Amino acid sequence: MGIITKVIGAILAGVGFYIVLMGLNPLPDDSMTFVYFIIGLVVMSVGFNLMVGSRREKEVKPPPPTITEIRCDSPECNFKEIRDFERGDYILRLVDVPCPKCGGSMTVEGIYVIREEPEQTFNV
Ligand SMILES: [Zn+2]
Repeated sequence: MGIITKVIGAILAGVGFYIVLMGLNPLPDDSMTFVYFIIGLVVMSVGFNLMVGSRREKEVKPPPPTITEIRCDSPECNFKEIRDFERGDYILRLVDVPCPKCGGSMTVEGIYVIREEPEQTFNV
């Protein structure tokens, strides 16, 4: 839809510009010149809006910085690590990497999105 809208917008903007030029040309009928000018401006603005609108749609928001909190499964060890979020991380997922402290298995305890406001936890 984005590309088609952009093409239509470009065509409308071009047609509108052409109509404005026609309106600027001295024509025998003065009132018609004014009407052409207005129609051209309207068509042009609609075309530009379509182009700008489709461009805005295409902008992809960068994902917010996310961290993953990992905790060792051993209650005595209680090792905790925070690393960057990786695709496929979810809460209570067993981590492939063993605990660097005791060598036991570790589990994802929390996933946090870092923002200006207080950290937000995803309850998966
Ligand atoms: Zn451990």
